[in-house]
Amino acid sequence: MGQASFFHLRAASSAKGKLTEIGLISIGAIMLLETRLLIRSNRSFYFEGDELIDHSTKSIEIPKYIIVKNKATEELVPFLEMMRFKNVCIATQENLLELIPDIYDAIQSSHHSIYRVEERPNLNHLMSKLDSIHDMHPDALVGIGGGSVLDTVKFFGHILNIPLILVPTLASNDGICSPVVSVKLDNGRSDSLRARMPFALFADTSVICSAPKKYLFAGLGDAISNITAILDWELSAQTTDEQIDYFAKTLSVMSYKSLLNFKSANFGDVDFVETLVNSLITSGISMEYAGNSRPASGSEHMLSHAADVVFDRSFLHGHQTGFYTCVILKAYASDFYEKVLQLLCDLGFFSSLPEELFDRATFSEVLKISRSIRNRYTILNTLNDDQLLRIFDDTVSEIKYAISHASSEISKRNTLRTV
Ligand SMILES: [Zn+2]
Repeated sequence: MGQASFFHLRAASSAKGKLTEIGLISIGAIMLLETRLLIRSNRSFYFEGDELIDHSTKSIEIPKYIIVKNKATEELVPFLEMMRFKNVCIATQENLLELIPDIYDAIQSSHHSIYRVEERPNLNHLMSKLDSIHDMHPDALVGIGGGSVLDTVKFFGHILNIPLILVPTLASNDGICSPVVSVKLDNGRSDSLRARMPFALFADTSVICSAPKKYLFAGLGDAISNITAILDWELSAQTTDEQIDYFAKTLSVMSYKSLLNFKSANFGDVDFVETLVNSLITSGISMEYAGNSRPASGSEHMLSHAADVVFDRSFLHGHQTGFYTCVILKAYASDFYEKVLQLLCDLGFFSSLPEELFDRATFSEVLKISRSIRNRYTILNTLNDDQLLRIFDDTVSEIKYAISHASSEISKRNTLRTV
């Protein structure tokens, strides 16, 4: 034990009038100890020779209320009243409020204002709307919708420092509870910006299940990509001086293992959908804890961002990351490869993918720019394009094989349109 921690333990013990061993410290002393460690967190380190020994604690922003269940949105209006919010700005898109009638009724009979969100707004557009949101003087921002809505309110909430309440109507990526927003720039590319975490999250599984299934596939593809993100993080820690944040890693691993270990995964099962939503939430919190996207974004995300540039039209983020996760697992010769392929195949994931993803020539273009997407050490640094193209070929063949050998009922909904 380092000197700094020992000092805290002794200080805490003596403050309770007891000279005890650590194991006998009373509950009250432990609480006092924790308080002191938190208060003194910036000083809980010292040098041992040239090496900095850091015992500081870490504080992060996570939602105070997370409700994930059937009819969760019924609790939103009572929650706003309980929190005494008087002037709420509700950001949403056409027709979405009709999915949630009690919120719609509450807005009609209140002073809450509505802000209509554009589909995939770019940064300039968001900046131009800041004044109008500010002039509403909202005491909370509520975002009801998919990625565009949630990104918009996270952006406004972060800059204007207003509490955020998110009501995702889709579970298509881990942005439902993350400190990151994806916005388009004038040059057509997207960038990830820092944002604030929500104060509360109401994920209604009945609403999420009623959305087109392609969004659930995308959520699955984004959640499962944490496997390769962690492999890349470990590879970087072995090869460079990058440090792993072990708690963030634990959260990320919990996120994907909850899906891999689910017995009889099936999107018709509301428990599985709830597990997927919780997995995406945990993934988002792992990024908040790490202070960056490392626990949930590795080479598979770099390929996906490169694909955003190469493809003429935009595809769902999670469709791309899920597919590239398979390619990268193959590159690692990971034990997870077959299990992930089987899970995705059984659920019909591959049938939801755009055919361009399976095209070798396009993948070659994606590879060319993938390493310049982000300054992040991954397995892409260790393999050349020819090696990765061979791995891509093998992965596509094995996906086809897995689909053709799936049970007849599964294969009916699983047929790959092209390859
Ligand atoms: Zn992602």
